[in-house]
Amino acid sequence: MAAVSLNPLSIPSTARLTDSHGRVIHDLRVSITDRCNYKCVYCRTGEVGAQYPELAIDEYLRLIRVFVGLGITKVRLTGGEPLLRRGLVELIEELARMRTLDGEALELALTTNGHLLDGLAAPLKAAGLQRVTVSMDAVDAATFERVTRVPGSFEAVLAGIRAARAAGLEPLKVNCVLLRGFNDDQIEGFAEFARRENVVVRFIEFMPLEEGRLWTPEIVVPLAEIVERIGRVLPLVELAPREASETAKRYTFADGVGEIGIIAPVSQAFCGACSRVRLTSDGKIRTCLFSQVEHDLYGRLRAGASDTELAAYVVRTIEGKEARHHIGEPGFLKPSRSMVHIGG
Ligand code: SAM
Repeated sequence: MAAVSLNPLSIPSTARLTDSHGRVIHDLRVSITDRCNYKCVYCRTGEVGAQYPELAIDEYLRLIRVFVGLGITKVRLTGGEPLLRRGLVELIEELARMRTLDGEALELALTTNGHLLDGLAAPLKAAGLQRVTVSMDAVDAATFERVTRVPGSFEAVLAGIRAARAAGLEPLKVNCVLLRGFNDDQIEGFAEFARRENVVVRFIEFMPLEEGRLWTPEIVVPLAEIVERIGRVLPLVELAPREASETAKRYTFADGVGEIGIIAPVSQAFCGACSRVRLTSDGKIRTCLFSQVEHDLYGRLRAGASDTELAAYVVRTIEGKEARHHIGEPGFLKPSRSMVHIGG
């Protein structure tokens, strides 16, 4: 009989987290706070603040270690705004020391609004962070400040992007959520921005995950329209996907300079290739952005569960991952948490 090696959790190293639809889950997103220093109009009403507790850094580390022991190879920290979280640099240092089941370093990434990145890019890189994704919804200062509702935000984020590049947090991705009639006049400007600033700009279709009630199918700017509009100014060439679970359709320009991507969860859902699971700031597992139920992993930790028991709970929870979301279908129910409180 072939030898089965055991990892520290006594789970066969051949066992990778797999759901009942046959998808291997290797990508963990962890929200480390649901506080945010921006009030982006499409995300937050501006009337509510943080709603959920934060765990201690050591508690995130313990839970993440359990996931890594089950085959997670990539960890993305998010929020709320993760740069607001005290202990972030130390958390990254510890994550950089973890090893996957194959003995490799984890892929370590972070999603941020970039407001505090100018001062933090170099320390984060030194701690072991590999990549950042900066959210940015306009390339002109006035529109940007209308979105974030924070004066001076455009200059701060631009400085953050440049600091991240200088620190070697590359490839640097800039994510933009488009809303028809609000910032869709920025599409062509973003194409120029990608080339000028040497960043990968990715447009993300707006999903019904806002605190208020803004979402309609008509407000979503679909992939096909974005490609068509950029193509009119700068001809695009589609790039081949690098892996099956890649969420973005990628394009370069006819002269090969620059890259843009489009993430189309609404018009071209990619649930069949989903490899993700999320942990909220208060330690709940969400198997889908649109899950109606959450799974209280932290509650089990608090109740004294061992790592092996926590791992068994994660395995069971992942098995029940939803096949797909139902955005735009009759009877679609918004989840009780919005994006800022889940961790995008
Ligand atoms: N504060 C960090 C940031 O700004 O990137 C991390 C959290 S934020 C919730 C993560 C991402 O979710 C941002 O890129 C934001 O634009 C995106 N987002 C928020 N609400 C969304 C929605 N309803 N549909 C699509 N993306 C959304």
